[in-house]
Amino acid sequence: MAFIEVSNMKKSYGKLDVLKQISFDVNKNDVVAVIGPSGSGKSTMLRSLVHLEEVNGGSIRVGDDYLVKDGVYSKPQEIKQITTRMGMVFQHFNLFPHLTVKENLELAPRLVKRESVAEIKSRSTDLLEKVGLIDRANAYPANLSGGQKQRVAIARALMMNPEIMLFDEPTSALDPELTGEVLQVMKRLAQEHMTMIVVTHEMGFAKEVANRVMFMDNGEIIESGHPAEMFSNPQFERTKAFLSRQ
Ligand code: ADP
Ligand code: MG
Repeated sequence: MAFIEVSNMKKSYGKLDVLKQISFDVNKNDVVAVIGPSGSGKSTMLRSLVHLEEVNGGSIRVGDDYLVKDGVYSKPQEIKQITTRMGMVFQHFNLFPHLTVKENLELAPRLVKRESVAEIKSRSTDLLEKVGLIDRANAYPANLSGGQKQRVAIARALMMNPEIMLFDEPTSALDPELTGEVLQVMKRLAQEHMTMIVVTHEMGFAKEVANRVMFMDNGEIIESGHPAEMFSNPQFERTKAFLSRQ
């Protein structure tokens, strides 16, 4: 059984159908790269998975639990349990500006109060080491580079021990010379078998790290497949046209 199963997911804003009954699976350890033109529904798809948007139809199953089944959402408590299993990283970092790096990492786990402060502190130290920012633990976001901010955002998402990480164009807001350090952290996560869905324009990353590429256009998944095959032999004109512009 797939870890995540999305079936006939539908989302519209008024008359605009942003997601037209899309279906896909994500298995444990998958790294799925989602590509496609601006406005094709990539962010809406990702945001729907973590309940930042509510869909107008279809189902999202995570493990044994349904976030939404045939358009009917589960109870708030269940939704919360499901969404805390997923970590999300945004294009614009969304760090808390008034908190230090370390405080950004520790806030959510402390609010949940499932663990001792010592455990939380030890994990934030480990994760800051992992993303190469232990020396910036007491800095404020304003004093970090974009690449550093994004690495903090990744570490913060990992603090909740997610079973899957969702990335929405994590390097699109960065100066080109800073994208590498973020992609490197993501690549290492993939090597450690983190399940990931990555919306990205970084075709190199998709080719090298993803085991599946999903091409979206106009609210639909046009095709999906292994990166080597899809990049060398796209099956649809729309995919060809998009890839030739990259
Ligand atoms: P992508 O991430 O692929 O660029 P989005 O998911 O952000 O695409 O957007 C898909 C479509 O939905 C676009 O046409 C966008 O203008 C529209 N859209 C997104 N969010 C909203 C919203 N809150 N209200 C109305 N339209 C929206
Ligand atoms: Mg987007």
